[in-house]
Amino acid sequence: MPYPHLFAPLDLGHLTLPNRILMGSMHTGLEDRASDYDKLAAYFAERARGGVGLMVTGGIAPSMQGWLKPFGGRLSMPWHKPRHRKLTGAVHAEGGRICLQILHAGRYGYHPLSVAPSKIKSPITPFTPRALSSRGVKRTLRDFVHCARLAQDAGYDGVEVMGSEGYLINQFIAARTNRREDAWGGDAVRRMRLAVEIVRQTRAAVGRDFIIIYRLSMLDLVDGGQDWSEVVTLAKAIEAAGASIINTGIGWHEARVPTIVTSVPRAGFAWVTQRLKGEVTIPLVATNRINMPEVAERILADGQADMVSMARPLLADPDWASKAKAGRSDRINTCIACNQACLDHVFQNRRASCLVNPRACRETELRIEPATRRKRIVVIGAGPAGMACASTLGERGHAVTLIDKSHEIGGQFNYAKQIPGKEEFHETLRYFGHRLRDCGVELQLGRTADVASVLAGGYDEVVIATGITPRALSFPGSDDPRVLSYLDVLADHRYVGAKVAIIGAGGIGFDVAEFLVEHAPSATTDVARWSREWGVDMQLNQRGGLQEPQPEPPARQIWLLQRSDGRPGARLNKTTGWVHRATLKAKQVSMLGNVSYQRFDEQGLHVLVAGKPQILPVDHVVICAGQEPNRLLADALITAGSNVHIIGGADLASELDAKRAILQGSELAVML
Ligand code: FAD
Ligand code: NAP
Ligand code: SF4
Repeated sequence: MPYPHLFAPLDLGHLTLPNRILMGSMHTGLEDRASDYDKLAAYFAERARGGVGLMVTGGIAPSMQGWLKPFGGRLSMPWHKPRHRKLTGAVHAEGGRICLQILHAGRYGYHPLSVAPSKIKSPITPFTPRALSSRGVKRTLRDFVHCARLAQDAGYDGVEVMGSEGYLINQFIAARTNRREDAWGGDAVRRMRLAVEIVRQTRAAVGRDFIIIYRLSMLDLVDGGQDWSEVVTLAKAIEAAGASIINTGIGWHEARVPTIVTSVPRAGFAWVTQRLKGEVTIPLVATNRINMPEVAERILADGQADMVSMARPLLADPDWASKAKAGRSDRINTCIACNQACLDHVFQNRRASCLVNPRACRETELRIEPATRRKRIVVIGAGPAGMACASTLGERGHAVTLIDKSHEIGGQFNYAKQIPGKEEFHETLRYFGHRLRDCGVELQLGRTADVASVLAGGYDEVVIATGITPRALSFPGSDDPRVLSYLDVLADHRYVGAKVAIIGAGGIGFDVAEFLVEHAPSATTDVARWSREWGVDMQLNQRGGLQEPQPEPPARQIWLLQRSDGRPGARLNKTTGWVHRATLKAKQVSMLGNVSYQRFDEQGLHVLVAGKPQILPVDHVVICAGQEPNRLLADALITAGSNVHIIGGADLASELDAKRAILQGSELAVML
C-alpha cells in the first residue's frame, strides 16, 4: 500500500469510510437547474467510481433568502427531493457516499432578498442585506434543520453545514459583521449560538446514523475575525452539539490573502488544522492546495489531520483515489490551481469545468468512445492543444503520430512552468508524457514538420497545432540587442539588467514581471516565507490570523506598461487577477497605462504617459505584446491541396489560453 494513512478506513460509528479522501464542496453551476441534475449525477457517479471516500455537493440553500444568486440551488420543499435522489442514487450505485452542503449565503447573496445578522453590506456584492429579526433568526435555524431532514429523505449520507468562508453562519460568529445586542450577538458565545444550535437541532432531527460535517472557519483572514481561543471554543461546542466531522475553512471570500490559487504553496494551511488537533476528538479535515497523494499522505502521517479535503483535484481527475491506491500517482491529472475553468466560470455564471480535464461537468457530452475505423493521424505541435488531441485520439484507438520541433513536449507550458507560483505546470507535462505513452502515440521530438514530409506520410487526417509566434514590435531602437522578447528571457535565459521595462501587461507581461522580481523563484513554495509575505500570522496571536505583510525586496526595478488607458491587469482572470496585481504592487512594480512607446536609446525607454514625455532609465526592454497564430505549415498544406484541422493558437491567437487549446484539441479528437 503506497499511502497507508490515506487509505486507512475511518470509522464514523454507524459507517466506515474506506479512505481519508473527502471531495470538498465545489459549486459547478449544475446545481441551479433541475434539468441539469442528470449531468450532475453523471459527474458525481464518475467520481464515486474513482474511489473517493466521501463527497460533498456544491452549496445548496435552505431557503430563498439563503440563495447565492437568484434561483440558485435550493432544498426547502418536498418537491425538490426527486432531483436530489438522482444524485444519491447514482453515487450509491457506484458504491460511494455523498453529503449535501447546506449553504446560506447571508450578505454574500447576489440578490435583493439577502439577509444577515446586521445590515452591513459586503465589499464583494452590490446588495445591502436586511438584518434578521430574532424571529427571522429562529426561522433560519428551522430552515437549516428542515433542509437536513429533506436531504436525509432524498438519500444523502449526511450534510455539511457551511460555517466558513464568510457566509451567513460565519457572519454571525464574527464581531465584524454581527453588531446585534440580542441572544444571537454581543459576546463570542452568543455570536456562535446560531452555529451550535443548527448542529444540535439537526442532530436531534436526523438521529445518530447520519453524518454532520461542520465547516469551521479556523482562519478568517479578515479584520475583526475570530481569535484562536474563540475558534477552539467553537470547535468544542460543535463537537458537543453532535457533529461527526469538522472540516477546515480558510479565509472569507472578501479576504485579501489568496487561499487556493496556484501561488499558494501546497498544503499551505494544513498547520492551522493541526493546531486544533487534540482540542476535539472527532475527525478533523485539512484543506486548501492539497493536490497530490504524497502531500495528503504527509499531512495524515504527521498527524496534522484525520482526513484531507480536495475539491478541484477531483474535478481534474475523477480517478485520483483509485490511481493513488494502485500506486499510479504519476498518472494523476493534477489540478494546477489555475481557477480558469472552475471558479472563474462560476463567478461568470457559467458551468464549471477544468482546464486540464475538459470532460469535467461535461461527462455526458464529451465522451471518449472507441473509433469505428482506425485511422492514421498526424498531429503537428505538442503544446497543450496537440497533446490533448493526440492522447484522446490514441485512447480512441487511432494510430497517432505527434511531431514537435522541440526536444520536449509541452509547447508554451515549458515557459509557464518557470514562473514563480506556476510550478504546478510541471505536473501537466508529466501527466501528458505518461498519457501519450500509455495510449500508444508515436512521439517524434526534435523534428520540424514540413509540407513534403506531411504529404509523404499519406495520413488519413492532419491536425495542425503549431501554436503561435510572439508579436514583434517596431519602434526606433527596437533592434537594439537589449530589447528582448519574452522567449529570450524564458526560453533562452538571456541576461536581464537591474532596471527593466516590460511592454504589454497581459497574462504573459504579468508573468514575466513576477519572474524578474523574484530572487529565487523556488522559494515561493516555502510556506513560512509565503505566509510572511502575505501577512498570515502563523503564531495565531492576532485576530483573524492577520499581521503586517513583509514582502521581500524585489530583485529588479520593473515598469509594466500598456498602451490602453485604465488599470494594467484589469483584464486578467476574475479570481486570480487581483493576486497578480497585489504581488507586483508589493514588489513596487510601476504599472502604467495609456503609454505610447517612442524610442529606446542609451538613456532608456522614451515614452509618453497620458501624452506627457518620460524617460524610463532601463537597462533592458522585454516585449510581451501578444501573439500571432503560427500558420505557416497550415497555409502551405492548404495551398498544396491538403485537408487540415487547425487547433489551439495556430487556429486563433487572440485570447488564447491553455483552457481553450486543450478543450479544442479534445473536442476535435472525439469527432475524428
Ligand atoms: P503552443 O503551446 O505554442 O505549442 C505549439 C507547439 O508546436 C510548440 O511546441 C512548437 O514547438 C510546435 N511547432 C510549431 N511549428 C512546428 C513544426 N513546423 N513542426 C513541429 N512542431 C512545431 N495559459 C493558460 O491558460 N494559463 C496560464 O497560466 C498560462 N500561463 C502562461 C505563461 C507563459 C509565460 C506563457 C508563455 C504562456 C502561458 N499560457 C497560459 C498560455 C498557454 O501556454 C498557451 O495558450 C498554450 O500553450 C497554447 O497551446 P498550443 O498547443 O496552441 O500552442
Ligand atoms: P494578451 O493578454 O493579449 O496581452 C498582450 C499585451 O500586449 C496587452 O497589454 C496589449 O494591450 C499589448 N499589445 C498588444 N498589441 C500591441 C502592440 N502592437 N504594441 C504594444 N502593445 C501591444 O497576450 P499575452 O500576454 O501574450 O498572453 C497570451 C495568452 O496567454 C493570453 O490570452 C492569456 O490568456 C494567456 N495567459 C494566461 C495567463 C493566466 O494566468 N491565466 C498567464 C499568461 C498567459 P495594450 O495594447 O493595451 O498594450
Ligand atoms: Fe484545477 Fe484549474 Fe482544473 Fe480548476 S480549472 S480544477 S484550478 S486545473
